[in-house]
Amino acid sequence: MPMTNIKIPGLKNTHSINTLFCIGRNYIEHAKELNNPVPEVPVVFTKLINTLTFDGGEILIPSHLTNDVHHEVEMVVAIGKYGKNIPEHEAMGHVCGVGVGIDVTARDVQSVLKQKSHPWTLAKGMDTFAPIGNFTELDGAGDIHSLDISLEVNGEIRQKGNTRDMIFSVPALISFLSKYCALNKGDLIFTGTPAGVGKLSDGDEVKAVLGEKVSSLSVSVKAV
Ligand code: MG
Repeated sequence: MPMTNIKIPGLKNTHSINTLFCIGRNYIEHAKELNNPVPEVPVVFTKLINTLTFDGGEILIPSHLTNDVHHEVEMVVAIGKYGKNIPEHEAMGHVCGVGVGIDVTARDVQSVLKQKSHPWTLAKGMDTFAPIGNFTELDGAGDIHSLDISLEVNGEIRQKGNTRDMIFSVPALISFLSKYCALNKGDLIFTGTPAGVGKLSDGDEVKAVLGEKVSSLSVSVKAV
């Protein structure tokens, strides 16, 4: 059952957004830039529904909690039908659309949590920390494992990558995840960020783009 009445923007068959799954360290160069090991199995976490915000919205930085909020631009896939123990060769049949999103992360908060071996939910889970753009139906998106993905701040390119460089493909991620968690219509999977993550500041204008016409997202940053 859908947990929200928030629809996935851009998809004709209107789905309500359910769980936000995220994959960490899915690009080798990004794992290296944060001095993390390259994973042998997918690194999985979730973001909460309160993190959602949309094209034209704002990323709110709670200045009393963090002084180092990072952007992580990511391809986000939308799940269109229920599945459990999904084999890789059937996985794309569970994807209904694709879009661009930003896994906003309070890096300083995350570092403290990691040092203590605590979950990093709070570092990733603050309000507005998961902006998503308008999605494209899967059949109109081309090969989703060959899409340019980029993020610019105030007109300057900060992140530039291609989804072909993901360590774990979308079918591999879906197959792995669905062994543990049933996937439901309306779930979103943030598939990890390429290198170039960096700090966001009050007043920044952020633009994320996936593919030539697959998805784009513009948000402004506001300290609160
Ligand atoms: Mg991320």
